[in-house]
Amino acid sequence: AAKSQGGNRYGYFTPAMQEAAQTRLRLIADLRGALAADQFWVAYQPIVELATGAVYKAEALIRWQHPVRGLVSPAQFIPVAEETGMIVAIGDWIFREAARQVKRWRAMHHPAFQVSVNKSPAQFLSDDADHPEWFEYLQALGLPGESMVVEITEGLLLDGDAVIKGKLLALRGTGMQVSIDDFGTGYSSLSYLKKFDIDYLKIDQSFVRNLAPNSSDMALCEAIIVMAHKLGMKVIAEGVETEAQRDLLAAAGCDYGQGYLFAKPVEAEAFEQWLLGRAGGATAS
Ligand code: C2E
Ligand code: MG
Ligand code: MG
Ligand code: MG
Repeated sequence: AAKSQGGNRYGYFTPAMQEAAQTRLRLIADLRGALAADQFWVAYQPIVELATGAVYKAEALIRWQHPVRGLVSPAQFIPVAEETGMIVAIGDWIFREAARQVKRWRAMHHPAFQVSVNKSPAQFLSDDADHPEWFEYLQALGLPGESMVVEITEGLLLDGDAVIKGKLLALRGTGMQVSIDDFGTGYSSLSYLKKFDIDYLKIDQSFVRNLAPNSSDMALCEAIIVMAHKLGMKVIAEGVETEAQRDLLAAAGCDYGQGYLFAKPVEAEAFEQWLLGRAGGATAS
């Protein structure tokens, strides 16, 4: 197409490609200013203990309120933040926000309250990911390491790289815990599970979506749960949207569930209202 446009000074860029490139450049420029302009906020989604209905865990999910484009999905800007290295500053910001909320929720709701933050591979590898600064921040707040969980994806652990192993060991050494996010979608190798000290497996929502008795998804969930427990890990099911899914997962021994059935991710104040609203009520819903 570039050729047919003759003297196109953008070379082989078609108008569509050119526009995509410009959109991306604008996104990068906007993203650079977003932190200073206070355009990020954190959404919290409860992680529910299935056997009791108790809630003492939540996941922190970043939100970008763009002045013109409105709410931009993390699926759109996290990859760009990773490629440009901005993810490190953004990740530090969300960690500190989440830590301050944990302190509050430990005091007012549950002494063992825990919040997880997502750490993408670029973030894990580029930053001084022995996490001394994160741990120092927790200590300054008077919080133990186990008040925070770091969610990583299995791709990071695939090759059992010594550097990654060292970083993970240092992280666990502070008491902070580790979750494998989107478990089951990355790679077929399970060997990393014995090489690394992992606390939680999060079953990807694609296995939960069509969960039904005697289905292959049910078999996979059951197998993941048994395996995780034998290896000393707890299991969190993602994307729980129906009572039927919750009941099947609970019957299979799944420890925790997260999904729209319980609550959508909402800002801290609304999350707190949600917690208070169900305190004293029938917690097992
Ligand atoms: P994730 O860590 O696997 O987060 C779960 C995603 O599933 C969230 O999407 C959440 O809103 C969504 N979800 C929760 N319950 C349900 C449900 O019942 N049904 C359905 N269909 N979806 C549900 P979200 O917030 O758009 O985040 C997308 C991804 O962006 C996250 O996937 C994570 O990989 C990444 N992300 C989000 N915040 C951060 C962050 O602060 N740092 C980094 N590095 N990545 C982040
Ligand atoms: Mg996650
Ligand atoms: Mg996930
Ligand atoms: Mg994901």
